[in-house]
Amino acid sequence: MANWFNISCKKATYLISKKQEEGSLTIGEKLQLFIHLFICDVCKLFKVQTNYILKNIHQHHHTETLTVAAKEKINVVVKEEIIKTQ
Ligand SMILES: [Zn+2]
Repeated sequence: MANWFNISCKKATYLISKKQEEGSLTIGEKLQLFIHLFICDVCKLFKVQTNYILKNIHQHHHTETLTVAAKEKINVVVKEEIIKTQ
């Protein structure tokens, strides 16, 4: 039972990533991660940093769009390239 609570940093970072990608962990995994984060500052920092990165990726993804002019420009270039290859 003592070993069950004592997970490695490798397992902890895997669980942090799994939670961020899949959105949930089992109760056992949550408990293991909670205990590990309580004693390990390095993994705590990893969690904070990956949360920050993910948050910024999502914000960037949702706010950045091409302008109509940029889309038209891309369309023209693509059509020119298609014509060149024919
Ligand atoms: Zn750790």
